[in-house]
Amino acid sequence: MFLKFFPTPLLFLLLCSLSTILADYDADPTRSTMEQFSGYPTQEPDSVSSFSVDAVSSFSVDAQGLQKQIDELSNFSDTPSPSVTRILYSKMDVFARRYIKNLMGLSGLSIREDAVGNIFGRWEGYEPELTAVATGSHIDAIPYSGKYDGVVGVLGAIEAINVLRRSGFKPRRSLEVILFTSEEPTRFGISCLGSRLLAGNEALMKSLETVVDSQNISFFDAARAAGYANDEEDLPSVFLKKGSYSAFVELHIEQGPILEEEGISIGIVTAIAAPASIKVDFEGNGGHAGAVLMPNRNDAGLAAAELALAVEKHVLESGSIDTVGTVGILELHPGAINSIPSKSHLEIDTRDINEMRRNTVIEKTHQSAITIAKNRGVRLSEFKIINQDPPALSDKSITKAMQAASQELNLSHKLMISRAYHDSLFMARISPMGMIFIPCYKGYSHKPEEYASIEDIANGVKVLALTLTKLSLY
Ligand SMILES: [Zn+2]
Repeated sequence: MFLKFFPTPLLFLLLCSLSTILADYDADPTRSTMEQFSGYPTQEPDSVSSFSVDAVSSFSVDAQGLQKQIDELSNFSDTPSPSVTRILYSKMDVFARRYIKNLMGLSGLSIREDAVGNIFGRWEGYEPELTAVATGSHIDAIPYSGKYDGVVGVLGAIEAINVLRRSGFKPRRSLEVILFTSEEPTRFGISCLGSRLLAGNEALMKSLETVVDSQNISFFDAARAAGYANDEEDLPSVFLKKGSYSAFVELHIEQGPILEEEGISIGIVTAIAAPASIKVDFEGNGGHAGAVLMPNRNDAGLAAAELALAVEKHVLESGSIDTVGTVGILELHPGAINSIPSKSHLEIDTRDINEMRRNTVIEKTHQSAITIAKNRGVRLSEFKIINQDPPALSDKSITKAMQAASQELNLSHKLMISRAYHDSLFMARISPMGMIFIPCYKGYSHKPEEYASIEDIANGVKVLALTLTKLSLY
């Protein structure tokens, strides 16, 4: 039965790691003979070595229950259905957290919350001193978004635990479900706040001292109101050491159209592209749109337009389809039809899975900004790199485990890159990391039309569950 459960090359590794158990098991010749005779184990199915059925085919996801939970969770929203708005430390966020903690409790997980509200639900393994295997995602939602982004990776993870419990599986390494605080930057302008802090970001810790939201409420006032950190002194306790987990896996909707278009059930993420964001300001003299003749102008708006085109050029020069750049914000001052723009403001987002290539785009963009300012007689008053996170590669042993799991479950799968970033990007700093994608309708995300079928979600949960067994036993 053990062979049936792990019919892959991983079997060898698992056999090695479980040699002690198997040694005990094989040590009793009477039992071996009995089993050969009856075809059934003589032991109760209460440990890994005594799986009495083909555990993989017995994996059953409670799809109806899971859909109900997704729907119920979406009700904790500040905007009407089908949109979801759930902002960090808001009343709805607190209610939603309570809902998740309740489910974790029902799944028999022991719950811990840290000072910023990252929530951990732990299923103790039979070798609890080993580093745990973790999985999880986020439940915060930007204004007027959908009910699947992040949620599938939290409710799906809890259901994966239920699947494993029902199958009779016993984890060797402990398994942990993590709900990350504030993956979205909505309230304080900081994305992946919880996972960044878990990965031990001291600069972020310092900046939280002064950060306020649009209502001028400080981070710590908001956190305190939700029952979390009082002040900066509480934050170092959030940091986790490198090596705190032996593996981290996140289940997530693709947020892109590839899997749906190609009719593939599972995406296995090999790398997460990381963004850099830049703010640029140009200043010129402005003037009357009729009175100032063309040779006498120093138009800050045209400098911005030229830089936007330069960003596109530098991105295309990389020669890689994985390099992207966007000028998503371009503001002109004073913004009147008959006034030459005296100020312009651009915000540039550039991403790649290759850090060097992305940083080359930033450097070239900076050089262009300087040249454009000189040629047009405007001042480059700011060129500020707001963030420049390194991309992350998935761990090979985790992608292999995810591939093997998909194969054993007879699910079509392909290797792919995550072009959006996730808490996994930051978990990769402290743990080997991997991500499982499932298809979503037309790739829609961050809007009410966001949708993933419960069949696709259930497939993702099964792959996650089987991957967790492999990583837990390893
Ligand atoms: Zn997400």
